[in-house]
Amino acid sequence: MMPAQSESILERMIARYGMPSPALEYHSLYQLVVAVVLSAQTTDSQVNAVTPSLFRRFPDFQSLAGADIAEVETIIKSTGFYRNKAKNITLLARDITHNHGGTVPENREELMRLPGVGRKSANVILAMGFNIPAFAVDTHVLRVANRIGYCATDDPLKVEASLTSIIPETMWIPGHLLFITHGRRTCRARNPLCPECAINDLCAFAGKTL
Ligand code: SF4
Repeated sequence: MMPAQSESILERMIARYGMPSPALEYHSLYQLVVAVVLSAQTTDSQVNAVTPSLFRRFPDFQSLAGADIAEVETIIKSTGFYRNKAKNITLLARDITHNHGGTVPENREELMRLPGVGRKSANVILAMGFNIPAFAVDTHVLRVANRIGYCATDDPLKVEASLTSIIPETMWIPGHLLFITHGRRTCRARNPLCPECAINDLCAFAGKTL
């Protein structure tokens, strides 16, 4: 994939979808970090359905750090893997409260040391919380990047490396959101809508339909 072709792809995605905003709902760094951890293995809308109650009951890291884990489990149950997630977000809240002075760390290495935060989540927090260029690779980004021809690998780290070597840094954050939107609306996992795809002629997917 040449940078010029990638530029055309992103331009066409912007023309089709506009500049998308994140689907997760949050109003502070605290809410972003917790929502991101809850979003593992589920949809953003499932997370958005539980976070208003969670954040009303526990409005900041300090209150969540002292939460009764059973109560947290009850509130977030519908997001799946709720036992692990309840444990992770309360431990994370304690870690940030006690070891980071109540402040979310602003670099990937420290973020990845927080419970429940892997590289993808750390990249989302850097990008959306701090506006630091990062290309988070979730299931949509991985599928779309492979189909279009940015890479040929199931390894998210290698996908991220390909994307960030081809796409200019200024486009990493919007690129991540555009790929997710494209994956949800057009390049779906099953039955991608190739005939109406804005980048059909630029896509290398062998299984695409015209
Ligand atoms: S042509 Fe099909 S496979 Fe390629 S990006 Fe568009 S929807 Fe996805």
